[in-house]
Amino acid sequence: MSAFARVIIDRSIRRELDYSVPENLADRVVVGSRVRVPFRDKWALATVVDTLDETPAEGVRPIEALLGDRPALSASLIELARWMANYYCCPIETVMRSLLPQVIRRAEVGWKKQLFVHPARIAPTEEIEKLRKRAPRQAELLDAITQLPAPIPAADLLRQTSLDNSTLRALVRRGLVELREQAVARDPHGAEEFIADAELAMNEEQTAALKLIETALESPETHPPILLHGVTGSGKTEVYLQAIRATLARGKTAIVLVPEISLTPQTVERFKSRFAAQPDMVAVLHSHLSEGERHDEWHKLHSGRARIVIGARSAVFAPLENLGLIVVDEEHETSYKQEEAPRYHARDVAVVRAKIEKCVTVLGTATPSLESYANATRGKYVLSPLTQRVDQCQMPLIRIVDLRQERRKEKAAAILSEKLRSAIGDRLEKHEQTILFLNRRGFSTSLLCSNCGKARDCPNCSVALTFHRSNARLSCHLCGHSAAVPKRCPECGQDALIYAGFGTEKVEANVSAIFPKAVVRRMDADSMTRKDAYRETLHAFRSGKIDILVGTQMIAKGLHFPNVTLVGIINADLALHLPDFRAGERTFQLLTQVAGRAGRGEAPGEVFVQTYTPFSPSIQFARHHDFAGYFQQELEFRERCDFPPFKHAVLITVRSEHEARAQFSAETLARRLKEALPEEFTLGAPAPAPLEKLQGHYRFHILLRGEAIVRLSRLIRETLDKLPFPEDVAVAVDVDPYQLL
Ligand code: ADP
Ligand code: ZN
Repeated sequence: MSAFARVIIDRSIRRELDYSVPENLADRVVVGSRVRVPFRDKWALATVVDTLDETPAEGVRPIEALLGDRPALSASLIELARWMANYYCCPIETVMRSLLPQVIRRAEVGWKKQLFVHPARIAPTEEIEKLRKRAPRQAELLDAITQLPAPIPAADLLRQTSLDNSTLRALVRRGLVELREQAVARDPHGAEEFIADAELAMNEEQTAALKLIETALESPETHPPILLHGVTGSGKTEVYLQAIRATLARGKTAIVLVPEISLTPQTVERFKSRFAAQPDMVAVLHSHLSEGERHDEWHKLHSGRARIVIGARSAVFAPLENLGLIVVDEEHETSYKQEEAPRYHARDVAVVRAKIEKCVTVLGTATPSLESYANATRGKYVLSPLTQRVDQCQMPLIRIVDLRQERRKEKAAAILSEKLRSAIGDRLEKHEQTILFLNRRGFSTSLLCSNCGKARDCPNCSVALTFHRSNARLSCHLCGHSAAVPKRCPECGQDALIYAGFGTEKVEANVSAIFPKAVVRRMDADSMTRKDAYRETLHAFRSGKIDILVGTQMIAKGLHFPNVTLVGIINADLALHLPDFRAGERTFQLLTQVAGRAGRGEAPGEVFVQTYTPFSPSIQFARHHDFAGYFQQELEFRERCDFPPFKHAVLITVRSEHEARAQFSAETLARRLKEALPEEFTLGAPAPAPLEKLQGHYRFHILLRGEAIVRLSRLIRETLDKLPFPEDVAVAVDVDPYQLL
């Protein structure tokens, strides 16, 4: 029993506060409890992070109330939060925001019951007429209640009608409606039925991988993380499924992380079906859940009813007790990195959580990140290879198309080279399917003036506006700015505007024109705005109603279509020329992943890679499916340049709407850092970011590198805390950055 509790309140005050624990709560306030405390002259919600026998603080006030019958977070998760704050150079209250979903932080007591509005009696017409005259808002609300499906949660009703609670209460007083408290269960997959499916008989390599995981489950505290390096289609998911079964059999729980983009109905179904015998066993967490669904899925895990969670990045914080296994599928995916504070990488957080909770980590991928593979070669991880495709299919044949030669042939290189065009024609004849990949949306990527050479740039960002034919407007892919297409060049007034560069929209149009009989569909962020569009398109493609699917990275990952025998990569160079030390790695991964979509059925697959740099190493190694060769040369490059995995990088971005102020602040900060940092750390000169202007802000970068990252992180934090920045200057610290633009 402790007399005091140290808490972090749900606000950014950058301080932990001590409160006394009243006697009636003495043995119930523990680390991880949610409490309500007096704060300034009001109150605040907070999380207990420590319990103390005494406190140095003066004038300590008592905790007002304890929320929920069990602590919301475990002591292990609080420990994880502390680690994240230190490592990612970020205030702990910001970390706590990621740890506890907002809907959970707000909810007062455990399973929150909601107030539902039920119609109570039917009002006679005169009464309604009277209401319309004397209390029009009540009449309006009553109309809404009769029109909307009943019963409706009071909160939803008021949100939808923008009317207030007092209006609703007035209707209750008139006896026209009733409010009833009801517990709500919102299962995001409640409407679907999952048919239990049996385990598959695994091949030798899969069996070996599972064995390794089972051994690790025997002594998780000493076993290093397992890197499951399995080529596309090698049956990694089956290994995960059976490893989870083994975990549950030991009375433990499991987390499966998948990139948001591959958290498709197909993926969820595989897990739900395998464990369909116990309906509530699998919970799902991702960003497309409604607040209510998130609340319920979270509680399903917190209460222990669900023992498996499958989710995107933030599911690494799932409130599971007795954790036995964390699987990170597609561990190389950069979407595991959160691009706002706390800027954590879910794979790395998973490894740390596993260490704290003494559980097993399995990182699966066809193209390991350089960081993870280096960890495996250094013995920090154990490598478990799956070299064969389960279906005995051959790896697809990858052909490189040299766009330089194509250009010589036809002046301007066509979107589809002759070779790719004839391969598509061939597939159409055989009723096989084709995927065309281009990592760029829109129709034309810029609108240029052939007289003065100026492009139409975004007024807020330093990028050209993309032309979208569907709405015939120019738009910025970074800030969403949208503009009409000018008739003449606004700079020089000449009627000389030309469209240059192309995106998926134009590929779709081009392919449809060349193959008028083929059914062509496009899948990218523009064409998939409707909620069900993604599912419908995939379904149509799977059932053979679409011949050619054109898309962005949305189609590159994890999808499995047996009838796809041809994949065309329209331009493999897009990633290669970004000012990013991972550009080569990304290209290699992308080519390998996209190529993995071909030939997953009976017929062998073929991949055409169109490129202006046919001899770049990432393209050549991907072509020969040579991960080891690629890894070796890329690693040498990274070592020469002191980049990860040899040194950690930290990227500081200083931004402001005023260019001079951003620059001045960046220079001052760099000077202070130079004084504060010992020689072992490298400090780059402050420089304009490659993407100099973004959403109206001028941006300057400072890149730091070093081995002792936690120390570096602390020194940066201390330097920042001592430095007053002008109000309109914002500073972001990104540890282990992925976004270098
Ligand atoms: P990966 O995740 O490695 O790309 P998947 O796990 O998606 O591969 O497996 C590809 C396909 O092979 C799936 O349809 C899966 O059901 C099937 N599969 C996996 N393991 C086996 C096996 N041992 N025997 C037969 N089919 C299998
Ligand atoms: Zn913009």
